[in-house]
This record gives sequence, structure tokens and C-alpha cells, in this order.
Amino acid sequence: MKNLPSIIRIVTVEENINGEIKEYKCLADESNGSTVRYLSKEEALQVFSEVKEYYNKSNYLEINDDLEKKENLDHFVESMNSSYDNFFKLNLNEKYDIPKMTHKFKTFKLNKRKWSCKCEWCGKKISNIEVEGYYSVHQEQISRQYEKACSVECGDLIWKEIIKNWIKSNGYTKFFNV
Ligand SMILES: [Zn+2]
Repeated sequence: MKNLPSIIRIVTVEENINGEIKEYKCLADESNGSTVRYLSKEEALQVFSEVKEYYNKSNYLEINDDLEKKENLDHFVESMNSSYDNFFKLNLNEKYDIPKMTHKFKTFKLNKRKWSCKCEWCGKKISNIEVEGYYSVHQEQISRQYEKACSVECGDLIWKEIIKNWIKSNGYTKFFNV
């Protein structure tokens, strides 16, 4: 097999057939900077057979998909960890652990007479007559939702549900210890 040029581009060539312009695509060698050389038929067929061999690999789609997803995730993790103090941690098995969240405690406003809400996890009524406030479960980068919880425990369970959904919907399951 001949060594193929390192930079191959698809170019359009025109042909005038009885005054009608017909366009074709062909391959050109661009490894020599400004000089463009059209590939010979033999070279072009070699390119096609190499491309075909690659695309015929049964796992090629999965490999590419995974690489792209992992790249996106690593990017996201990097930005999250720089703004949220090591939010995502890699476990010894090279997978990320489900990140832990601190839930903000929201104190009820004193001027509100009677106000209540429900814990999104256990369904318990949270009212300003009985308690001082609730826990707000929210992580802007992961989900736009704001969920209310009666306790840290319920908050943690709500958070786990949210982050697991995020992992699943982004196709990140294999990169996490879930
Ligand atoms: Zn609860």
C-alpha cells in the first residue's frame, strides 16, 4: 500500500458538458501547503478502502460517542471543580463519585403570617408555625429545579435523584459510581 498524504481535502471540480456545468467531488492532497494536487484514482480508492475499514468496525460508533461524552464531562468537571471546590471526585476505579451537596437552609420570613410547603421527598408538611424554615436543594449547573426538603437527609435523597437523572440523560452512567 502506498503512503497516503497527511492532509486530504474534498474539493469540487467542474466540468462543462455542452454548456452545462456539472460538479464533481474529488480528493486533493494538501500536505504541501499552497500546492494542491489531485489524488490519482488508485490513491483515492485506497483512501476509500481505509475509511470503509474504519467505519465497518462494529464498535466504532460507541468508541467515538464515548470519547466525545467523556471529553464533555471532563470539561464540565473542570469548570465545576474550580468554582465549587472539588465538587466531582475521582474514585480509585477512575470513575466519579456522586458529588455531595450542602443544602441551603431557608428561614421563613417573619412577616409572613401562615405559610407552608411540602417536602419533595417524604411529603411532610413544612409550616412556619412549627419550624423555622426548610432546606433548598438546588444546583444551577445540574438542574434548574428548586426543591424543598424538610431535613438534610431528605435533601440528600432529592439531590441524589436529581444528579442521577442528570448523569443518565447525558449518557454519563459509565463514568460514575452510581
Ligand atoms: Zn422530608
